[in-house]
Order: sequence, then C-alpha cells, then structure tokens
Amino acid sequence: MVFDGHNDLLARLWLSSHPDPVGAFLNQTLDGHIDLRRCQQGRMLGGLFAIFVPPFDYVKANAPHKLMQCLPDQTDYIAMQRYDICMAQFEYARQIEQRSQGQVKICRSMADINACMQNKSLVMVLHLEGAEALTELSQLDAWYDLGLRSVGLVWNQPSQFGHGLQAKFPHSPNTGLGLTALGEAWVLACENRSMLVDVSHMNEHAFWQTQQLLTQPMVATHSNVHRLCPQARNLLDTQLSAIKASGGVVGVNFDTAFLRSDGKRNKDTPYQVMFAHFDYLLEHLGEHGVAFGSDYDGGFMSSYWPSVDYFPYLIDALCDYGYSDARIENICYQNWHAVLNKIWKS
Ligand SMILES: [Zn+2]
Repeated sequence: MVFDGHNDLLARLWLSSHPDPVGAFLNQTLDGHIDLRRCQQGRMLGGLFAIFVPPFDYVKANAPHKLMQCLPDQTDYIAMQRYDICMAQFEYARQIEQRSQGQVKICRSMADINACMQNKSLVMVLHLEGAEALTELSQLDAWYDLGLRSVGLVWNQPSQFGHGLQAKFPHSPNTGLGLTALGEAWVLACENRSMLVDVSHMNEHAFWQTQQLLTQPMVATHSNVHRLCPQARNLLDTQLSAIKASGGVVGVNFDTAFLRSDGKRNKDTPYQVMFAHFDYLLEHLGEHGVAFGSDYDGGFMSSYWPSVDYFPYLIDALCDYGYSDARIENICYQNWHAVLNKIWKS
C-alpha cells in the first residue's frame, strides 16, 4: 500500500484538451503518469492531490484553449481567473469521486482515510499549491468546507503571502525575502484549522519564519536533500533538523532533476540515486520522517519509475536494497498516516 505526498493530476486534467478528462482518468485512457487503473496496479492507498494554477506563459504555450477568453495582449491572469482555475480543478476532483462508484473518495478526516483502507478506495487529500487565488480568510474557510486539508501558501512567484522558491540548480534555498505579515498570519490560520502547512516551495527565510510560528509538525511534501542534489527546492541539513524536531515528514520527490547530483532531467537515472536520498533522510530524520512525494504528473521521471503503476517495482527494489519490511511500510504509508493524524487531530 502506498500513500504519495504530492501529484499534479488535477492540474493536468485542467490543462488537457480531452473532451472528458474525468472519464479518461476513470476509464484508463489518460496519458501522463496517473489514471485510476494504474493507481490500482500501483497498490496506491492514495495521496495528496494538488490544486495548482500553472504559470500563465506555460498555459499560453501549451494549452492556449484554456485562455481563450483572455485579451490577446494579456501577460498574466486577472485575479478572478486564478480562483476559477482552482475551482475548476476542485470540480474535477468532485466529479472523479462522484463518477467513480466508490472507487475514489475525497478524504477530510482520518476516519475517511481509514474507511478507504477498509474499502480499498483511492484516497484523495486536496492540497493547494500556491494560495494566491485566495484573498480572504472566509475563502480559506469555504475551501476547508469543500475538503481542502493541506496548503502550500507560496509557489514559485511572489504573491501577497511572500516570495516563493523556484527550481534552480545549483542554488541555495536562501533566495531572499520570506513571508509577508499576511503570509505569517495565514500560516497560523492554517494551523488553527488543523490543516497541513507545506514548506516544499518556501525559501529558507520563509521556512524559518514558519518554523517559529508552527506548533504542529513541519512537512515538506515533495523535496529532497540539498547536500546530495544542490537544487534550491531541496532541504539543508539545518532544515532537516528542524523538521525532525517538529515530528514532521519529508516526501521524496521522484523528479530526476531533484535527485541527481548534476541536477539533470535524465530518464536513465537508476534507483540508487533515489535511494541515497532515502538513506540520508533516514539518518537525519529517523524512521518516521521519510515518505514518498513523487510529483507524478508534474515532474520528470526516470524510466525505472515512469508512472504510478511502477510503485511495486520500487518497493521490490527497496527490499533488495536491504530495507526491512517495517521500514518500507513506514515509507510507503505509515509515516504519512501518522503525521496527518497528528495535524488533523480527527
Ligand atoms: Zn511543487
């Protein structure tokens, strides 16, 4: 059984030109890294599914059909568009649940997750990657009511919440300004609502501000070890120590550019390169701090782990590598289960 800390399925459904992307997900005809059948073949319990507004220029170049209502000279979204894009992706999640006949469930509590473990339904925990579409706390409450249980306040670009963190190699995670006063207030607002606060796209300054504010465990849903791959999005030893002290978890990102010491996108990347990150994180975080955060449908994958149906091969490889069954269970789902239990408190 596998619980995965990060994927970008919902953004990919939104970008798709397929006339019925939800049907394609359910009927196994979707390309990319994730569909329902491959989740089942991968023995997935589920994971965190990100709602994410892709960069304007990316959408303009790759999915211009999504921007048809824009003026031709527009260079960025207008505020409403961001909110509508998030809502459209939530609507895909809702339709997947509704049309899946019990095979997929949006989970809002540990009871929901435990029921899915019993029923063998796929768990969708909704995560917001970059919260700039939300301008008032009443909207955070409205999204909580829709099922949102995890928030990454900042993504790559600056917003009302602070400066985010772009993938840059080689680069330090110290990229300047951190959270604004509003960003700090929203970290507390998320904790008050028992929502997970994701530090994966926080720069170093924002990370330490968050560490000062949070009493709940710190979680990096999809980041790796900076010492092994000096990518700005990866974590320094000092950050790992803080995550450990908080009782938090790091989900290992499977994108080869976040794993390899040369920072390259390379589909020939072997398991050993990923396993070095597991070893390092186990040493620095302990048995309960390490998990998966694949970035499927968002990252560049090796041909050894091209899609979610390859999880069983990855698990076999971890076993051959010498990890015990108990350790593999921790990495596969127990550590996510335990940290969500601590943060959600219900
Ligand atoms: Zn990300």
